[in-house]
Amino acid sequence: MELKFPEDFYWGAATSSHQVEGGNFNDWTEWERQNAGRLAQEAKAAWQEWQTKLFPQMAEPKNYLSGRACDHYHYYEQDFDIAKQLNHNAHRFSVEWSRIEPEEGNFKQEEIEHYRQVIKTLRERGLEPFVTLWHWTNPVWVRDMGGWENKKTIYYFLRYVGKLADAFGDDVKFWLPINEPTVYAGQGYIIGAFPPGVKNIFTADKVLKNLMRAHKETFELLHKKFGDKVSVGSVHNLHYHTLYKRWNPLDNLAKRILEYIQNTRAINLFWSCSDFIGLNYYYRDTVKFVLGGRFGVADIENPNTEISDLGWDVFPEGIYYVLLSLKKYQKPVYITENGLADIEDKRRADFIREHLFWVHKAMENGVDVRGYFYWSLLDNFEWDKGFWPRFGLVEVNYQSLERKIRSSALVYAKICQENKIDA
Ligand code: BGC
Repeated sequence: MELKFPEDFYWGAATSSHQVEGGNFNDWTEWERQNAGRLAQEAKAAWQEWQTKLFPQMAEPKNYLSGRACDHYHYYEQDFDIAKQLNHNAHRFSVEWSRIEPEEGNFKQEEIEHYRQVIKTLRERGLEPFVTLWHWTNPVWVRDMGGWENKKTIYYFLRYVGKLADAFGDDVKFWLPINEPTVYAGQGYIIGAFPPGVKNIFTADKVLKNLMRAHKETFELLHKKFGDKVSVGSVHNLHYHTLYKRWNPLDNLAKRILEYIQNTRAINLFWSCSDFIGLNYYYRDTVKFVLGGRFGVADIENPNTEISDLGWDVFPEGIYYVLLSLKKYQKPVYITENGLADIEDKRRADFIREHLFWVHKAMENGVDVRGYFYWSLLDNFEWDKGFWPRFGLVEVNYQSLERKIRSSALVYAKICQENKIDA
């Protein structure tokens, strides 16, 4: 059976500046320098034996230094040639604030010009740019001022956005101000695994609210400037939660709490000032009530019948339920990220096909999905995990910087070209 997608559906892949560009100087690069040794040392205890064997580089500090990454900053033309060759008609990327404004008020015209060229290069290849304005990294002066804990950061962020809006003008239709506010607040301010490594739930809440205000004001700024010509969306990483024991009321309670913290709360804060919702979907969480567990009253205990190289529980059907949960907001939805770490490329093609099957089903049930972006176009720097997880449609050799198209990328290219999947 053939499942057709709408004619004007967007097909593409996503990246983010810090993960692919290389040569950045921001709060993350500083944090990497301070933490690479520790992360390398902890790797053995942090991962399963099969993972430590398959990825011995996780025990080396240099795995945790973003360094020149994929050097996408210089290779973007070539990388977009590949995206075009793979029949993509859209691409999501992010602008690196620390390049545009490395010191407070010192705006670098040549860096703004760089991103203008990036956008032009995409357009010349028939790729619609989806522009993220902030994907987790801050200039060091912003960090020194207290980062997103400090309300002033909203003002500075808006000033940066204003510069980009002036420079990009009509060349950008789709704007995504903030990537995954809940993940940022959770990892940086509750779990403490990302910079600044704080563990304080109240600070996390403050950060989330400041990010929300930055989003809202960006939404207003862009609409004031461009009217209805632009579409401004919020991007959330939403999990599919299911119960460990179906009839256990305590598991049910724990599941509801996690659903609220990880999904509903952020959507409720952002949706009224969003033209669309960007959904990043990766995995299922099977929730078990555990007092003192990882989430206070809950732990995740997945059946793990199928896992990615990162041990994430692959569950394509989950995207269907998450999409249905978004129906009530009556907004267009773009899948702004969906992907897996799979160095052997054994699972990726099926992963994409199966997720698209469930996306299509959600569309049949009235969810207005308008595009799909695989994460990621290239292998890249996976934050506190470093380089070993391989998410790319395109393999990157970090020594030679050579790009090699994986076979799953060709399967996806066919889907993009034919606008359909065979189910
Ligand atoms: C983030 C990406 C990240 C991906 C895989 C998303 O939460 O937006 O930056 O690489 O997940 O972990």
